[in-house]
Amino acid sequence: MTVFGKGIRVDLPTDEIPKYWYNIVPDLPEPCPPPLDPKTKKPAGLDSLWFFPKSLIHQEISSERYIAIPNEVREIYAKMARPTPLIRAKRLEEYLKTPAEIYYKYEGISPVGSHKGNTAIAQAYYNKNEGVERLVTETGAGQWGSALSLACAMFDLRCTVFMTRASHDQKPYRRVLMELYGSEVHASPSTVTEFGRKILAESPNHPGSLGIAISEAIETVRKDPLSKYSLGSVTNFVLLHQTVIGQEAIRQMELIDRKPDYVIGCVGGGSNYAGLSYPFIRERLMGKSDTEFISVEPEAVPSFTRGIYAYDYGDTAGMTPLFPMYTVGHNFVTPPIHAGGLRYHGKAYSMSILVKNSIIKPVAAKQREVFEAGKIFSRCEGIVPAPESAHAVLSAINIARSCKEKKVILFNMSGHGLLDLGGYAEYISGRVVNCDAVSINFDGIPLRIS
Ligand SMILES: *Cc1c(COP(=O)(O)O)cnc(C)c1O
Repeated sequence: MTVFGKGIRVDLPTDEIPKYWYNIVPDLPEPCPPPLDPKTKKPAGLDSLWFFPKSLIHQEISSERYIAIPNEVREIYAKMARPTPLIRAKRLEEYLKTPAEIYYKYEGISPVGSHKGNTAIAQAYYNKNEGVERLVTETGAGQWGSALSLACAMFDLRCTVFMTRASHDQKPYRRVLMELYGSEVHASPSTVTEFGRKILAESPNHPGSLGIAISEAIETVRKDPLSKYSLGSVTNFVLLHQTVIGQEAIRQMELIDRKPDYVIGCVGGGSNYAGLSYPFIRERLMGKSDTEFISVEPEAVPSFTRGIYAYDYGDTAGMTPLFPMYTVGHNFVTPPIHAGGLRYHGKAYSMSILVKNSIIKPVAAKQREVFEAGKIFSRCEGIVPAPESAHAVLSAINIARSCKEKKVILFNMSGHGLLDLGGYAEYISGRVVNCDAVSINFDGIPLRIS
């Protein structure tokens, strides 16, 4: 007897929301070098992370393999559509005439449209517990700002978001969403910080950058003891919170008797791909699978494929500690690609180690091919991928096309693109360019790891 639709969409009941986050740190093939103090260049003390609450600093340096998810967080995960569905892209397979099976984990089903709520909710919870009254952050494309705004609404925290002016002016609906959830939003550079005023005095029409917005957020936190800073990617604790994605996916694949041959995801700072892949990487490190892991980045910001593994600053101004990571340099000027979530110069520390040890294989994608993949996917499957997620779609399509026999491909659909239709409009009218002629200049990198 066949079961109707078996494996087309695999859902889990609410009580199968994972009870633990998986921390890959104790399983890494080599230890992660410590961050360095920007002044002394010696290993940085914990006080260098003063802008985060203690419980998150504790998670940042933890080497415990499993960390319990508080029940309050699991309850809100349930409201945020967790567990998210695993869906088979069967019509895409037919379109490609591939013998491969293609599955995706759909994080865009969340009310904020991406995976970012998985960490926003956890961060709001821990800050609230420590008596913090306001979270301050920066946002580029606006995905992170809207996720944190909703999380703050859920935990009755105030929220201030510095949004880079270029995106602020291009994506007015993101601002509306953040304000609807109750946040205060400033186009950055803004007039509410000294740093912002200084930049505006020098250049009144400055389009802003993530580096400037981070500096404005940190200045705001420094002046208000009831505020803390919040970050949407790159750090160990953010990657940790995202591992609910991969744990659910393992269970969902078990239910249909599949094991992925390939696990694919797009990489900005690394959090959505770590979230999907790390639980599967653990199985491979334990010798239980020989799954291949592929990360996809834009050719315009090729940290893994053309950058170097080095100590680099987290921000443009060089105020944060130095972190060991693949980077294109903190002074790198990112071409204006549509995938705003993939513009950061550096990559997560643990993922950098996995790339260095060839456990994750990085590839880079051209912007026009990414949009083409997004278009094909929309027509076959109905879901419009976020331009970031369309990088993963492209890689899945390329692998499926090269398959001569049945293989199982799994990728992360990190978000939907319904607030990115401006980018698709440009693609349809033929105005999207590849942005792949980058010149990478490593002058800004103060020291390398020997
Ligand atoms: C922010 C974002 C990304 C990139 O960030 P990661 O930390 O690498 O996951 C990818 N996809 C979507 C939809 C995003 O909002």
